[in-house]
Amino acid sequence: MKCFVCGSETPGEVCNQCVRTERNLFHKEWDYKEGFLMRKIESYRIDVSSYRISGTGMISNSDKGLNGRVDAFNHFVGNVDLVEKSPCNGKDALMIHYKNPNTQMERYIFLLSCDAEGGVKNAIEDAKKDLRIGSGVMPATAAMPTSAAAPAPAAAPMSADAQLKLNKLKVLLNSGILSQEEYEREKLKLGL
Ligand SMILES: [Zn+2]
Repeated sequence: MKCFVCGSETPGEVCNQCVRTERNLFHKEWDYKEGFLMRKIESYRIDVSSYRISGTGMISNSDKGLNGRVDAFNHFVGNVDLVEKSPCNGKDALMIHYKNPNTQMERYIFLLSCDAEGGVKNAIEDAKKDLRIGSGVMPATAAMPTSAAAPAPAAAPMSADAQLKLNKLKVLLNSGILSQEEYEREKLKLGL
């Protein structure tokens, strides 16, 4: 598959090259204890970096947490589409909905008795903002440059740099960070 950040070939969602340049934005680990005698103790962890969310949580295919199991997760942060307080089998939890637009793989990650909703949300928002800026994408509200600039050379071969930017735009489009309209506009700006 292709790296969600740079578009190069990788076995995982984010290639090792990109992982080396990521920044940590949020980290928390805690124990979840259940029952008066605390017979059940599970260790949870959530890390948000500029490219990924990772950690250990209750992973389920259902938004109610049915048949969930505690396991490690590691996903591209741009594909996280929802973070909210939502019960897992009736217990207090922070829920993260993840969907890979390329493989359609979808899962709900529950962080039981996690009190860091704001921290996790902010870190994910920051990471997504960085992904936009990193790809040269301006916020939608930015003024459009006038087309008075010198005309682009006709049918010039695409530079490696332009190819990389185009790949990133496609990733942002597939992740739903950019709308089709924004994608086309950014493509025009690159002269593609
Ligand atoms: Zn990469």
